[in-house]
Amino acid sequence: MRRLLIQTVPVLCSWCLWYSAVLGQSGIIPTPESILGFRIGADFEMATYEESITYFQALEAATDRLRLLEVGRTSEDRPFYMALISSAANLAEVERYREISLRLAHPEGLTDDEARRLAREGKAIVHIDGAVHASEVASHQHTIQLAYDLLTGEEDPEIRAILDNVIFMLWPTLNPDGQTMVVEWYESNLGTPYEISSMPWLYQKYVGHDNNRDAYMLNMIESRVIGRTWREWEPQIVYVHHQTAPFPSRIWLPPFDEPVGNRVHPLMARTVNMIGMAMAQALEERGQVGATHMAPFDAWYPGYIDYLPMLQNTAAFWTETALYRYATPNFYSISDLPAGSRELRPESLYSSPWPGGWWRLRDAVDYMVTASTAVLDFAAKYKFDLLYNHYQAGRDVILKYSEEPPYAYFIPQDQRDPVAPVELLRRLAFNGIRVNQLRREVMFEGISYQEGTWMIPMDQEFAELARTLLEVQVYPDLREYAGGPPKQPYDVSGWTLPYQFDVRVVEAAVPLTDEVLATMEPVEGDARDWRSADIGGGEGQRDPALFDSVPGLGFDSDPIAAGIVPPAGRITGSGPALSIDIAQNNAFRAVNRAWREGAEVQFEPGESGGSGTGSDGRFIINGLGRQLTGELVDTLNLRAERCQPEGQALSKPRIGLYRPWSASMDEGWTRWLLEMYDFDFTGIRNADFRSGPLNERYDVIILADYGARTILNGFGQGSVPAKYAGGIGREGVRALDDFIQAGGTLVCMNGSCRFAIDELNLPVRDVTIGLPRDGFSVSGSILGVTVDPTHPVMAGMPVKAKIFFSRSPVFTTEEGFEGAALAKYQQSGSPLLSGYLLGEEHLNGYAASLDVRHGNGHVILIGFKPQWRGQPFGTFRILFNAALFHGAHAVSVEGAPGFWSTPPE
Ligand SMILES: [Zn+2]
Repeated sequence: MRRLLIQTVPVLCSWCLWYSAVLGQSGIIPTPESILGFRIGADFEMATYEESITYFQALEAATDRLRLLEVGRTSEDRPFYMALISSAANLAEVERYREISLRLAHPEGLTDDEARRLAREGKAIVHIDGAVHASEVASHQHTIQLAYDLLTGEEDPEIRAILDNVIFMLWPTLNPDGQTMVVEWYESNLGTPYEISSMPWLYQKYVGHDNNRDAYMLNMIESRVIGRTWREWEPQIVYVHHQTAPFPSRIWLPPFDEPVGNRVHPLMARTVNMIGMAMAQALEERGQVGATHMAPFDAWYPGYIDYLPMLQNTAAFWTETALYRYATPNFYSISDLPAGSRELRPESLYSSPWPGGWWRLRDAVDYMVTASTAVLDFAAKYKFDLLYNHYQAGRDVILKYSEEPPYAYFIPQDQRDPVAPVELLRRLAFNGIRVNQLRREVMFEGISYQEGTWMIPMDQEFAELARTLLEVQVYPDLREYAGGPPKQPYDVSGWTLPYQFDVRVVEAAVPLTDEVLATMEPVEGDARDWRSADIGGGEGQRDPALFDSVPGLGFDSDPIAAGIVPPAGRITGSGPALSIDIAQNNAFRAVNRAWREGAEVQFEPGESGGSGTGSDGRFIINGLGRQLTGELVDTLNLRAERCQPEGQALSKPRIGLYRPWSASMDEGWTRWLLEMYDFDFTGIRNADFRSGPLNERYDVIILADYGARTILNGFGQGSVPAKYAGGIGREGVRALDDFIQAGGTLVCMNGSCRFAIDELNLPVRDVTIGLPRDGFSVSGSILGVTVDPTHPVMAGMPVKAKIFFSRSPVFTTEEGFEGAALAKYQQSGSPLLSGYLLGEEHLNGYAASLDVRHGNGHVILIGFKPQWRGQPFGTFRILFNAALFHGAHAVSVEGAPGFWSTPPE
């Protein structure tokens, strides 16, 4: 079938052209079969993204009820499409409806009466997509069927009402690259023993499954394309499909489990609950049994692309339909069901237990089409409420923060790394939060704020998003049962961005004074003044830029984010060389670029300075030439000094990053971050451990956060095609050991530390091994540590640092240990800064990071996640320093005397 199709596609395109040119939009809607060559959801058949888009283009050619827009590009530079589906009359006036949606989303200056009038006139704007997680394949196949059903269902009053009342933003998928990757992988194995095997690479270039957890950080281009499109439309509903239904249920629907985000407007939470029940009812009407709600999906983490919009007053949620594997069907007998589910007893939120039987791709597609259609039906029926509540929630938030603290957040420009607040604020701005700046110095609450200080006044409609990201999280102490272990969050429990970025942010506890109000202005370029927006009737101007593709979509493309810039780079002093303080992350970009230009780099470690006020450590770049030096300082906004070159040159390390075939997101994030900071490095595969001494090719080998089994064993033999099976194995461990003994540096992050301790027999112990969960529990939290900035790996770090801890090891040293502690937990009291921690005594006095001498080399154990999802800007440099450590340890590895003395018993 697939081979046939490849031949038909070129024919098909010319057919489309002929079709639209000769027949015009005839209203004859082509079936998916006629274009793709198979029925959607057929066993063993799936459409790639390109094939899906070919179908959508055919639909656009056939009807005036669908428009296909290219809204951006993907990580692998595919065009990224969204379809608009509505009645022809609505699409002719779509700019007017978009304008109304934007006006209601930004309520400032509107009266309730005006809002009601607009809500009556407007149409509900609803986003539904074919998933972010490309392996959840029914999602991207169902969008094809859904479009066909909507465009051919005009005789059905329910569908007619949808087309009349809803502007439907249908994204064939939110992960175009992944859809094609997964479908091609499946097709390459179809009919072999590996038909249902896992794909040995990530289905998004860098981050795979984490691609729905990037909504506030916006590190990935796809996240920005989606975020920008949402800001251009401000949909009232966002619905993202997934396929991890809790077995044996056939679909999981909202309401969410506990805990939910505590800053979401209750109207949005209630709307999502209603929609969940509307979907369940629609499924029962069609005899599609087995829908469930609540556990296990809580909604605590705001980084979900399918939940963050709640904090922008949009009803946002996801569902989880059952999946076997790809397009392969599976039969479940009653004995395959868990013992407790076999009696098929109806439960309050599981009214029609699934009895087992066949489960095919088509079943999942049908469930999804029902659920999506139910959401559209809900939107058509409740159009006025959705639009008005969108307004009302924003209005309430503005009112709330004009009457209660925090009234604003102040972010001074004077920070350890002047680029850090810019990186943080640009992300908030891109997500629609308005940022102001003080035009002259003011005193407020006893603090003098300099000219240029950024501030986020909280009387704005998306203020709850700003607060959620800037405040400290107190994860509730929920237990699995009375006296039992803590209920773990589905994702993480703390993310406080000022801590992760190491940026000082000050809350305004009292109302802003007239002086502050008179001094603050929107950042340059902010043209979003909703008060003056035209809300009269009429033409609704089409913004030409809106429908163009966006090539780069950097933060510069956003009108507010572009106005947030760091202080200009500045050079003081004199001399031929350039000295750069390592507290600036851009120092690493400077070093890597200087090396590429053939310049020499020297390293000077930090000083502890008692109170931590000593030097942070510096890189000295020599031989770059005056012009290139100036360019480096300007483009990287560096604070730097000219100086005399001194000290020993750092050798540029040959860096290898281990890439297991069991596609690791943490490897992907690490690879992305190293690329972002211009590091030269190569990926190391299992086979590379068996092709000669590692020292001949690498100086530094980095292991991201992997389990020991991933590294050692990888995929089981026979579970994937042979070339992807297995790990580095015993032979690899020996090669790694030889590499370090001979002078190499192994850098281990988080879980990989446990692998290194066990397999290399390091005189180090992870004290968390075997602790019961009701005695020790930390799940994705920010903790405080004390670091030794005199050690090269901690250069540029403040003495009191904040780290992201997630299923992390905690170290003590044993007999025979040689090396240094790089970071340690406080002797007593809780190091918790944001999130949840039970059992602080299992941290007190222990080490969070160690430099372990091993033969002539070093193992750097980083017992936390310095690069977690590209978020902790304040600890990126620990990874970077470790990557450069091979050269630096020739300069200094002593560490501060007495920093690590007696490990606790
Ligand atoms: Zn998913």
